[in-house]
Amino acid sequence: MTAQPDGPEDRLRRLTTIWSRAVFPVTSTSLTRPEFERRLLPLARRLSEALRARAFDAAAGEAVGAALGDAHCTAPEALSRSLDCVDAYLVLYCGEDGDQEDLRARCARLQHAMAAGFARALRRRTLAEQEAIAQAALRAQGVVAQALHASEARFRAVFEGAAIGIGIADLEGNVLQVNGALLRMFGGSEQILRGRNVRDWTHPEDAPQVWRLYEELVRGEREHYHVEKAFSRPDGTVLWTNLTVSLLRDPDGNPQYQLALMEDTTERRLLNLRLRYEATHDALTGLPNRTLFFERLEKVLNAGDGRRFGLCYLDLDGFKTINDSLGHAAGDRLLVEVADRLQGCVSAPREMVARLGGDEFVALTTAVDSRREVDDLASRIMNALVAPVRIDGRELTVRGSIGVVEGPVGERTAAEVLRSADITMYRAKSAGGNRFELADPEADARAITRHGLTTALPAALERGEFFIEYQPLVHLGDGSVRGAEALVRWLHPQHGVLGPDRFIPLAEHTGLIVPLGRWVMEQSVRQAREWRERHGDGAAGPLRINVNLSPCQLSHPGLVQDTVDILERTGVTPDALCLEVTESALIGADDDLLKPLHRLAEMGVDIALDDFGTGYSNLANLRRLPVRVLKLDRSFTQGMQQFPADPVDLKIVEGIVTLAHSLDLAVTVEGVETGAQAEQLRVLGCDTAQGWYYARPGPPDRLHELALADATG
Ligand code: C2E
Ligand code: CA
Ligand code: CA
Repeated sequence: MTAQPDGPEDRLRRLTTIWSRAVFPVTSTSLTRPEFERRLLPLARRLSEALRARAFDAAAGEAVGAALGDAHCTAPEALSRSLDCVDAYLVLYCGEDGDQEDLRARCARLQHAMAAGFARALRRRTLAEQEAIAQAALRAQGVVAQALHASEARFRAVFEGAAIGIGIADLEGNVLQVNGALLRMFGGSEQILRGRNVRDWTHPEDAPQVWRLYEELVRGEREHYHVEKAFSRPDGTVLWTNLTVSLLRDPDGNPQYQLALMEDTTERRLLNLRLRYEATHDALTGLPNRTLFFERLEKVLNAGDGRRFGLCYLDLDGFKTINDSLGHAAGDRLLVEVADRLQGCVSAPREMVARLGGDEFVALTTAVDSRREVDDLASRIMNALVAPVRIDGRELTVRGSIGVVEGPVGERTAAEVLRSADITMYRAKSAGGNRFELADPEADARAITRHGLTTALPAALERGEFFIEYQPLVHLGDGSVRGAEALVRWLHPQHGVLGPDRFIPLAEHTGLIVPLGRWVMEQSVRQAREWRERHGDGAAGPLRINVNLSPCQLSHPGLVQDTVDILERTGVTPDALCLEVTESALIGADDDLLKPLHRLAEMGVDIALDDFGTGYSNLANLRRLPVRVLKLDRSFTQGMQQFPADPVDLKIVEGIVTLAHSLDLAVTVEGVETGAQAEQLRVLGCDTAQGWYYARPGPPDRLHELALADATG
């Protein structure tokens, strides 16, 4: 029969080719791929027949699955790839005439059968293998038993032919016989070993138990022992061995000889040492790495009482800039140079320098009795960094910040010491860098609380631990409440109520300020709507809400959309909202940063410039900003504590108010604590005031009462 170009036989072969290509890479067969394909062809044929047979026969599928296993396709992937292949191509290539839906259903059943057959074959195979192993073990036992009864000649053959060193000595330790392998290990002739005494082979590296075990054995108190032991070769080199020594007894059971079996582990040991070195040293600088440093530090801290230690934790200042601008290769060379210089700073044997990673290094010393000596070490390190580093013809100035920890050993864990050093290093950095600071438990505690608060922030927002207090904004002209500023607080489960100064900077640092700020805005806008509903629009117009915005929120791309969403959701008009941004957040702001503020201002949201007068107070800058309100910082009001007030302050405030008004800006003053201040500020032309004189920040209902009071009063 000659197959047509695209006859059933061709299609079957094509299916088989695809199948073999899919599965061949995951088999462990010794066949070539074409050979493997020939093995698969009858299987494919069987599947094809089963697909089209009148009655469905699962046995065909099972047989194919089992045959797969026999063709060394035992990896699970071989099965899954086979099933994928059958699923995708069997109906396509072998089932063109027939009800496609039936064929597909049958193809699926065939796949199930294949999987079942495969699994069964695999289990059979495993059982067969286990059986074979058990048989082999039995045979081996027989061989060993025979060997026990073997002749002296046979023993000699084993003795001489063995790959491991074998030696026999009497109980006094006199060496009686050694084999060739043992001689070769010692690298010499028989004279070296013959006639020697085992006890001569003490070695400085012997573990204490080596000779204790030996004595027990020759006294007949132990049958054998196993140790790692070093021997000196005649040429002065060291031979490391795995040594097993057994006691040989005479037929009456009395100790007679000792038998030593030695395996040469010198190379393995060297390799291990090398690996250990690599695992404990920094590849770039060759300095000990974090792992080794931690081991040492732990050892030092666990040492006996009365000792002291000192640790200098160095982090280079601005290293990232060097890396980014000159490239990593230059950065690496700088690190190598720094490592060399640090190494030069420690000389005593009880001092070490390590690289903890990146541009962080650490110097540890136990050669100290006092704080002064640790300070000296820190100074030495600072001095070592002074000379610029030459890289590619450039002179780079290296600066670093060091956190110094010093104290008695035995009080803190390694992790605690390192954390303290880390915190202190950051303190040095935030004080401007290029200096060292000494660890201070109180500063540590503050930093740790800060850290704790930072990590607790996200959950706090989810758990609803934040709440808002409102402080009224009062019109100076008629004393009416015009609105309120929303001030967020955190009801911390352990620390009680925390003011924003405790956590806003942390939230800004971690970016949580964005969701937190969004929450504050939503809550306070809802509150504003409630006031409006209860209070009506009042004589002086509707109550407004002031919400503080952090610099992070300002540069967050979602700001405008979030604000629009909140206003729409709550059904509050934009003119009810005033966003307070600080002057410092806007200093040097480019147009991109100002764009969202402009958008909000165009929508009708007011923008207030908060804490005005504490920053650069660039009055000329005001014109660029979409600001409607200036909030004069509390420091101005403080100058008016008594009556008459400081004339200079008065002049400044007067000047600012005049200028603001000429730019069409309203002026709000903060921190009004007395009636006298309020009167002064009114005379000076300020529009609105906020402060304890009117009300401290409080729950929303208080504002309602106040507003109600001036509506009726
Ligand atoms: P701020 O915007 O300058 O808020 C005014 C601060 O002055 C408030 O402190 C307020 O309680 C306090 N204060 C009000 N009247 C007087 C007074 O007569 N005398 C004195 N001595 N102080 C007065 P608070 O609530 O501790 O807020 C501190 C800062 O935290 C705020 O300063 C603001 O910058 C920030 N902040 C508060 N809530 C938020 C918020 O929701 N988001 C953002 N980003 N920052 C907020
Ligand atoms: Ca504010
Ligand atoms: Ca303020």
